[in-house]
Amino acid sequence: MLNQNVLALGKKRSTIREIFEFGNQRAKIVGRENIFDFSIGNPNVPAPDSVQEAIRDIINTKHPSSIHGYTSAQGSEDCRIAVAESLNVRFGTDYSAKNLYLTVGAAASLSVCLKALTASPQDEFIVFAPFFPEYQVFIEHGAGAKFVVIPAQVQDFQINFDEFEKKLNPHTKGVIINSPNNPSGVVYSNETINRLAALLSTKSEEYGHPIYLISDEPYREIIYDGIKVPFIAPSYKNTLVCYSYSKSLSLPGERIGYVLVPNTVDNFEDVYAAVCGAGRVLGYVCAPSLFQHVITRCVADIADISIYEKNRNILFEALTSMGYHCVKPEGAFYLFPKTLEENDYAFCERAKKYDLLLVPGTGFGAPGHMRISYCVQTETVQRALPLFEKLAKEYGF
Ligand code: PLP
Repeated sequence: MLNQNVLALGKKRSTIREIFEFGNQRAKIVGRENIFDFSIGNPNVPAPDSVQEAIRDIINTKHPSSIHGYTSAQGSEDCRIAVAESLNVRFGTDYSAKNLYLTVGAAASLSVCLKALTASPQDEFIVFAPFFPEYQVFIEHGAGAKFVVIPAQVQDFQINFDEFEKKLNPHTKGVIINSPNNPSGVVYSNETINRLAALLSTKSEEYGHPIYLISDEPYREIIYDGIKVPFIAPSYKNTLVCYSYSKSLSLPGERIGYVLVPNTVDNFEDVYAAVCGAGRVLGYVCAPSLFQHVITRCVADIADISIYEKNRNILFEALTSMGYHCVKPEGAFYLFPKTLEENDYAFCERAKKYDLLLVPGTGFGAPGHMRISYCVQTETVQRALPLFEKLAKEYGF
């Protein structure tokens, strides 16, 4: 007898994976260049040159045991110091190596935090739709806690506070936020963050235990129009930050990120130790050594995100003029318009006729929407526009 939960997870192909396979089949017939795959959030912008140079230099100058050997479980001190100092310079904080735990990307950061915080199967974690679908897997199957969804506030994709307050209760252990957001691209405003922090403080006091805020920030650097993303940790003392270099340095396959546990977190030392313990239970051992060296050198760098901004501008303007309704994204590399019929699966199925690969919003907890992942060549975006138009015309636009 196998673990039935994980067996079911392994057998079920994700919607995005299904779409990806469909694209592969169609590519054999019509050619890869005629597939308009907007389904996957795999950065198409290359990692900055500084990353390639750092890799070459590290390989040429460091001892192999330092490049390929184990580091301490929480990550090398050099790398943690580099990350802490970079945060301090940017955000005026005073973090040090002891606040950081390096991970194999944000997925691991989230899994580790959720595992560290879950003390009972009654514990609940709240997420706000639209949300990254793996949250449910990490909460229910990874940590063994309860997954609670707050419906989307579709007019702006900020937090629906009325619904949120109804779901808070003494079992609420934590809340996950993701800004800039996958899939909406929306950045939470200062007002949203301040209101959230105030509410969590009041409720923590009322329940007599902290409600942790897990801030999932892999898109923190991917922002447009020169806006500033509020750095959330200083706004609420019990915040754990989950970060990743998958998107900011275009390194998703290298698996490198971190958990930040600020000193302000209640029982900081125990929470940090629980994060280390959770990493141990989950068998992570340590983050990849070579990429710890790379991050130490490239911590302040960022991939060229101008292509994403260009794609966003082209798509947003064209789609809204065709009749699609969409909240303007200020970050990440996704657009999350309403589908032109209520059934988002039926709509995305229809789009396949034009080899337009879009992801239904239902999987993100927001039916009636579609995710368009625009981390693709600008030429692909431009060639896809007449197809979006034909699709809109089918619905009388
Ligand atoms: N959180 C969000 C919101 C994401 O979109 C992703 C990946 O797409 C992750 C976490 C996981 O990122 P990583 O590649 O760092 O594990």
